[in-house]
Amino acid sequence: MIIEPFSFGVGDRFAHQAAAQLRAFEMLSERGVEVVPVWNKSHREHTTIGSKPQSLRDAADAAVHKLNWDNPYYVDADHIRLETVDEFIASADFFTLDVADFIDGEIDDAQVEKFLEHHPELVGTIDIVGIEMPIETTREQVKQWATKYLPAVAGAGAIYNRIADAKGAENFVTEVSMDETDAPQTPPELLVILAALGDAQIPLQTIAPKFSGRFNKGVDYVGDTAQFEREFGDDLCVIQHAIPLYGVPSNLKLSVHSGSDKFSIYAPIRRQLGKHHAGLHIKTAGTTWLEEVIGLALAGDEGLQIARDIYRKALAKQEELCAPYAAVIDIDAAKLPDAETVDNWSGAEFAAALRHVPSDERYNPSLRQLIHVGYKIAAQMGARYTDALENNAEIVGNCVTENLFERHLKPLFLGE
Ligand SMILES: [Zn+2]
Repeated sequence: MIIEPFSFGVGDRFAHQAAAQLRAFEMLSERGVEVVPVWNKSHREHTTIGSKPQSLRDAADAAVHKLNWDNPYYVDADHIRLETVDEFIASADFFTLDVADFIDGEIDDAQVEKFLEHHPELVGTIDIVGIEMPIETTREQVKQWATKYLPAVAGAGAIYNRIADAKGAENFVTEVSMDETDAPQTPPELLVILAALGDAQIPLQTIAPKFSGRFNKGVDYVGDTAQFEREFGDDLCVIQHAIPLYGVPSNLKLSVHSGSDKFSIYAPIRRQLGKHHAGLHIKTAGTTWLEEVIGLALAGDEGLQIARDIYRKALAKQEELCAPYAAVIDIDAAKLPDAETVDNWSGAEFAAALRHVPSDERYNPSLRQLIHVGYKIAAQMGARYTDALENNAEIVGNCVTENLFERHLKPLFLGE
């Protein structure tokens, strides 16, 4: 199974928006650009919602059938580990092997030495086409990186083999992700990682390194966009360099786990992809759930009441909701309005505070991040929430489609 050059990950936490999401890809296709959708949902999201992996496959299949989508599409077991992979094997055909926890794990010195012996080309001056200055490395540095990442590569191998044994190696796409860790991986580190992944014969088609800067959930990138662009471009060159050298698949591409809504790096990404004729996988997830809340607020009545109730409860349970996401949110508590204030907002006011339109002065990133992590509250509402989605399917679906098309796919793939 070979993934297409351009793929875009979407999350559909409550399994009600797959068709609305797919509509955005259809609109892009009507403009002449083919990007394949990948529905992603992690074990953490399934656990929080109380859903099973098969439900995502069913929702994706139903949407594809409904819209007569005849291009490829995928269902991604997002951030799976050895302990969580089994329940995804039947329904997913894209697996994101999360090896962040193996970074800096245990490793024999002998294995590191063997790697160094096998890869003398990693030490010294490495000329990489497209990178202005040659990369300079010392044996000590490469040894340090090998010590750090070889355990992660071994971890990836264990998960990969488990899936390949159960499913057949030809029947899925492999991604390796290292993004959920503290320190970003520099381009030379990526090269060492790719050498090791090649040695381990893991046929990864996408790799998600951690880039520098902050990728907070549901809000824009925080960091130096010029530095990001350099790093992203250099990573693309490193991949091209590694393909013939290390036997990693020739269609290997970068995967950006965006945490949704990294609008300020969309233009830099687009420029670099064009410059290097490279493919891309980019993941979003929570942006669609937030559009559900926006749509419900705009629908008024019970929908608006649900949006207000979600906010009130999220505010009360802030600590609990934020804990699992502490590393990827930055909420300024002083900027969170009290629940009474929000109870008095109209649907339009609520939507404007939540909707990610940076130029709108009513937009409130703290409120947006809080609601982003608050999907557990909607899950606890059960049928009250999903009935409202169904009763307001058109207005909610339009928000979902518009968000993906106008704010994500258009800037990334049409440059508009
Ligand atoms: Zn990720």
